[in-house]
Amino acid sequence: MSLQCPICVGSAFDPVGRVPFMLGSKMHEHQIMGCRTCGHVMVDLRVITEELIADLYARPLDEQVWSTDGSSPYEDMVAFAADALETVRKTQQSPRIADFGYGRGEVLKALHQRFGVPREQLTGYDFAPLPLDGISTRTLRLDVLDEHAEQDAQFDLGFCSHVFEHIIDPRRLLRGLRNQARPGAYLYLETPDHSLLNDEVLSMSNQICPQHLHYFTVDRLAALARSCGWTVMREEVSLFGFVPRARLLLHREGGRDAIGCTRRFLTFRADLNARLSQTLLRLSESGPVAAWGAGTDLLLATAGDTVLAERVGAGRIIPHDRERAGERLAGALIQSSDLLSAASMPVVITPRPALTRLNMMKIAGKSGFAARVVDPYLS
Ligand SMILES: [Zn+2]
Repeated sequence: MSLQCPICVGSAFDPVGRVPFMLGSKMHEHQIMGCRTCGHVMVDLRVITEELIADLYARPLDEQVWSTDGSSPYEDMVAFAADALETVRKTQQSPRIADFGYGRGEVLKALHQRFGVPREQLTGYDFAPLPLDGISTRTLRLDVLDEHAEQDAQFDLGFCSHVFEHIIDPRRLLRGLRNQARPGAYLYLETPDHSLLNDEVLSMSNQICPQHLHYFTVDRLAALARSCGWTVMREEVSLFGFVPRARLLLHREGGRDAIGCTRRFLTFRADLNARLSQTLLRLSESGPVAAWGAGTDLLLATAGDTVLAERVGAGRIIPHDRERAGERLAGALIQSSDLLSAASMPVVITPRPALTRLNMMKIAGKSGFAARVVDPYLS
């Protein structure tokens, strides 16, 4: 099994260093690896067992120590997403505001106490939820909240702060959150940022610790979020006390729509295919018609339309093709396209690719029958 980067999916890594730690009475060690492609830093997960993870989290996480004066940035987290909060409160009668991995509930408390969000609009989700006064809490396996999980944790505004660095596969959590996001939803993400160092960070911060499996920077976190369909509205690296923070505000909407455009394109192509059949049927009402080119498009047209196939079989639509002359199509003999210039019937170009059609028009011009040629794909 090779180690795979969750961001670029590369598998070439260089060792960065080691993090030794005690668990029970046993010494362990994380190997820290750097992705050679995108620079993401992570623990070598190949040697991480479920048992080790269970032992690492056997007791609740230590409360994050942010600064020497005891101040904390939970209000500031909500303030970062204040515009999103205002938007969902304006557009939804009863918005669902959730904290995924809420810990001691500081963000939820700030939402209620400082930003006036009614308790009934708030939900806390966590692996082992602690009770919160008047705010509903639910157990949720955040590490497996992917698109296959049947979980109802829908939200209009979500917070997920200092969770991603603890998850083996952060992509599963991001996909899961994307799946639970209601139309128009926003998501606040925060992890430590491992690209910001000063003397205080070096001597005081706890960001290199055995429970951290991924060492994000704001740009790697944003790349990961974008790859799971989120639009980055705001990104920032900042320092609170001695904790360097990577902060993102994400929006469910705003991505460019390849699915919708591809559907439209395929519908348009189906309409073009129908135009070939319609043109051949219309022109063959009053007399024989040459179908020029006995390739994929004519085959598809005859396979999809029994009337068309019957007319080919009855000699009212006569397939012509230089390379396939002498073979049969829908029971009819394919004629050589060299015969087209001497004939007097209309000639319908059948291949859809534009370059082929342009070349056929040139040939018709040189051979003197361009006036009889019909391009069914031009409206
Ligand atoms: Zn990578």
